Amino acid sequence: MQTAVSDIDKSVLMELECPACKEYMVPPINFCLSGHNICNKCRPTVPSCSTCKQKFLKTRNVSLENLSRQMKFPCRYSKYGCKDTFPYNAFGEHEAICGYSPQKCPVDHLSFEMKCTWTGISKDVKKHLQTAHKDLCGDYNAQHSLLLPSSNASTYSYKFVFAYNEIFCYCVLNQPETIYVALYYIGPGENYSKYRYKVIVMDKEDMESIVVTHRVRRFTATEDDVFFPKNCLKLHGDLTESFRNEKGELHILMKMLKVVD
Ligand SMILES: [Zn+2]
Ligand SMILES: [Zn+2]
Ligand SMILES: [Zn+2]
Ligand SMILES: [Zn+2]
Repeated sequence: MQTAVSDIDKSVLMELECPACKEYMVPPINFCLSGHNICNKCRPTVPSCSTCKQKFLKTRNVSLENLSRQMKFPCRYSKYGCKDTFPYNAFGEHEAICGYSPQKCPVDHLSFEMKCTWTGISKDVKKHLQTAHKDLCGDYNAQHSLLLPSSNASTYSYKFVFAYNEIFCYCVLNQPETIYVALYYIGPGENYSKYRYKVIVMDKEDMESIVVTHRVRRFTATEDDVFFPKNCLKLHGDLTESFRNEKGELHILMKMLKVVD
């Protein structure tokens, strides 16, 4: 991993910018009748060359492709401070986990009850949560213990936990008939499939319990509800009834585990 882009590299990188989308061109690179290049992504979407209006050829610019193969490209988020550089075929992997990718506060997309307008870079999300949403941050060992009241109204609970250098959020909706539980992985990578969580429902003497294991979900802002049934573990009232204490409260413990390295 290189950490600086020299002046020579900068001028080569400028040559590798696609004239249509300004992203870097990586093989295959085609060109028009007059010799203007176009990136692989733009090629099918633009009917003719934006510079000279000539048709694109099927021929590939082999020398530029070879140059592209030898280059180290700066991260897409270099403007936010990332200094890492990568060969053309290693972009996606890094960008998905880059600590400088722009982020919104997860509280804002996880909950309808709370709003937060913070935006920043992904490596600052944890610090933001621990300062601005301290009451929503849980203990270091990534478990969350909750005493759910017996109530006729719906109650919501959110708890951020930090483990394995990642951020997760337990979301619980306590309804009179059903309890919905979900553990969300707070992006930006694809690591959520490495994790599971156990929901342990205990009786008042800790003698009996129900233990259910569920997959960690990745929260996508397009799915507008964290309690969307397919993402949640549902505990029905008739299952949990005998576990409630004399006040009708239910003690549940949620524990996260990593299943793949
Ligand atoms: Zn392009
Ligand atoms: Zn052209
Ligand atoms: Zn980066
Ligand atoms: Zn916030």
